[in-house]
Amino acid sequence: MGKRIIVRNAIQCKHCGDIIESCYTHDFQTCSCGACSVDGGHDYLRRCYKTSPEEDYILG
Ligand SMILES: [Zn+2]
Repeated sequence: MGKRIIVRNAIQCKHCGDIIESCYTHDFQTCSCGACSVDGGHDYLRRCYKTSPEEDYILG
């Protein structure tokens, strides 16, 4: 109810090209170069990046 449904929690790293996806809560995934990571699965979105979202990843 009013909660946003997250269908896919995935990003592609612009540095190494890895696509990483968080499939469930606390499923923390980092790309192979370590620049980006995702967490939270379908419950919440947490994205970590090195410089800025624009420079470091593309939405998956
Ligand atoms: Zn990377």
